[in-house]
Amino acid sequence: MYQSHIKENLVSEISETLALAQALIRRPSVTPDDKGCQRLLSDALEPYGFVPEFMQFGDVQNLWIKRGTNAPLFVFAGHTDVVPTGPEENWSYSPFSGDIVDGMLHGRGAADMKGSLAAMVTACQRFVQARPNHPGSIALLLTSDEEGPAVDGTVRVIDTLKARNEVIDYCLVGEPTSAERLGDTVKNGRRGSLGGTLTVRGIQGHVAYPHLADNPIHRLSSIVGDLCATHWDDGNEYFPATTFQVSNIEAGTGATNVVPGDARAQFNLRFCPDSSASSLKEKIESACSRHAEFFEIDWCPLGLPYQTLPGTLLSAVEDSVKEITGHSPGLSTDGGTSDGRFIAPIGAQVVELGPLNRTIHQVDEVVDADDLDALSNVYEKVLDRILK
Ligand SMILES: [Zn+2]
Repeated sequence: MYQSHIKENLVSEISETLALAQALIRRPSVTPDDKGCQRLLSDALEPYGFVPEFMQFGDVQNLWIKRGTNAPLFVFAGHTDVVPTGPEENWSYSPFSGDIVDGMLHGRGAADMKGSLAAMVTACQRFVQARPNHPGSIALLLTSDEEGPAVDGTVRVIDTLKARNEVIDYCLVGEPTSAERLGDTVKNGRRGSLGGTLTVRGIQGHVAYPHLADNPIHRLSSIVGDLCATHWDDGNEYFPATTFQVSNIEAGTGATNVVPGDARAQFNLRFCPDSSASSLKEKIESACSRHAEFFEIDWCPLGLPYQTLPGTLLSAVEDSVKEITGHSPGLSTDGGTSDGRFIAPIGAQVVELGPLNRTIHQVDEVVDADDLDALSNVYEKVLDRILK
């Protein structure tokens, strides 16, 4: 059972960042329902000269909100949607209460990534207040479909911006990248994701008359064996080597004396930018051809990898983390995909930095309240360094 800690919240003063994060958590914005989160953030930025543009695609709401028209354009990117809570009675505190207990902000989205959104907004407010005539422009790109299919979210906003020749120079994504301590890990890229379903066709028959059948399970096993043993690439300085995994194999009629007519496997590769999607597809298809005459591959939508090499943005983020936390961050490209993959291809430098990711998508998701204030300070310092 969860308890209410509203009383504690009333008596203790909380920062603007925490108050905003709490207000966001109290809107149960499970993908793709934004539940007014973007309006709340827009209302917080408009008084500071940001001009909002709500972009609705299908049932996904997106917000592009921008201050200024000059280059360079610095963008904070993130998502207002959250994953489902599962049974609420398993939570120590109500998942949409935003309770702050012993310095920890509780609730679904606290770490992934409503805390970051609040930190971005308050960083922008303080920066603009201190530097109303800053060079360049600042924008926020927010979607309510990062955790879902991600079809009508960031990718559609980027298409819209591209069509009107809007150039993003720098983009900081607020995904929770930290492992043990705020800012210990910054992501400067993400692996690509290539997946599909392979169907091998054989000839159904009686197990006692194998010469009259053609067993697709045997063929599929050989293909999977080859693919598991394939050396795809060596990885590079920033990326581990490409990996191949089978997530499901399916065949059989249910009878023990029947060779089935077909067999299926689902697979996925997480790949390093040293391998192209087309070269990986070629290797997979040739492994299939070696063992089967009749096969089909139904490819899933491709997630492209991205990589941001050392440069203006990465230095600004590293220096700002060091200045605020006292520690230099490590670089990483692991974990799943992120919306950074849609933003990098238009030529932007993309770096990801957010709070601890230990409890994301779990029951009792939580974030350290002091970490959010520190994160807001880091974001502000990044703006200071980029738009100077
Ligand atoms: Zn996220």
